[in-house]
Amino acid sequence: MMNNIHKQVLKKIKEFNTIVIARHIGPDPDAITSEVALRNIIKLNFPDKKVYAIGSGVSKFKCFGILDKIPEGVNFNDALYIILDVPRFDRVDGPKKEDFKYTIKIDHHPCEEKVCDLEIVDDTAASCTQMITEFALETKLKMNKEIAETLYAGIIADSDRFLLSYTSPKTLYLSAMLMEKYKIELMPIYNKLYERPLKERKFESFLITNLKVTSNGFGYIKITNSLIKEFDVDSSTASNMINDLNFIKELKCWAFSSYDENSKIYKINIRSRNISINQVAEKFNGGGHKFASGARLKDEEMVDALFNALDEECAKYKDE
Ligand code: AMP
Repeated sequence: MMNNIHKQVLKKIKEFNTIVIARHIGPDPDAITSEVALRNIIKLNFPDKKVYAIGSGVSKFKCFGILDKIPEGVNFNDALYIILDVPRFDRVDGPKKEDFKYTIKIDHHPCEEKVCDLEIVDDTAASCTQMITEFALETKLKMNKEIAETLYAGIIADSDRFLLSYTSPKTLYLSAMLMEKYKIELMPIYNKLYERPLKERKFESFLITNLKVTSNGFGYIKITNSLIKEFDVDSSTASNMINDLNFIKELKCWAFSSYDENSKIYKINIRSRNISINQVAEKFNGGGHKFASGARLKDEEMVDALFNALDEECAKYKDE
């Protein structure tokens, strides 16, 4: 029998002719593939609807699908707004919720307050794309090979190839369904996700070589603009490398800070094994998952304070 919440989401999709889909600022592959796949599913099943997957584009993620610009004159008052992979509106890369007639959230972050009219929140899901796959399969919406490949790319990216602890039987089952039903081709997906220029690998080895590790098992590095220029990489490259430090025996928790010259903000990426870090990130106006969080900070003193707090968490864990 169809899950009631999925039925309600489908009903709302059917009800509205204009649908805007957004996701979090600073998108990762799961956020982008979620909005692209959901837009394409809705368009495939309801070709007359106007569906826009929006937000600032990231050039290296263009391979997962092109985003839309909302044309002038679209009336949000009569539109449905779906936010994906984000728990709060202040992190949404899109218009205000008040502009829309009805709002829906589909998200796998730990539940914060209810902000939409209808919400599917599952913090046991390894990715938002996993949740959209589940929704589409359960509601029997048509998909095609391209959509299935987009969804699979998001699942692979956010579960780090099924390495992370959120990977569940459901993650594997839904991935297998995408492979079996839509005959997706794996190699082109892995090339899109993992092929990198040599200069990025050299940058990665610099980060590992220069990582500072405290006696409590906290690893950190501050990535300056001059480093970004020296290695000729973009500032988001570093963020994407945070997962590559997983399984280093000496590290319980690790973090990068990268300074973004345009926004004059320090972007912090944090990962951990076994230590819950999202509550520490929340104290610094950040957030995220239990073992994968982030924050955006205005000055370097705050970066140091956050790093100290994370080191203290490692110390507590050591004592336990
Ligand atoms: P990232 O390191 O950018 O991949 O982010 C890891 C997780 O933390 C993702 O689930 C993000 O949505 C979340 N996150 C990152 N930055 C922030 C922030 N400033 N506020 C709340 N959550 C964040």
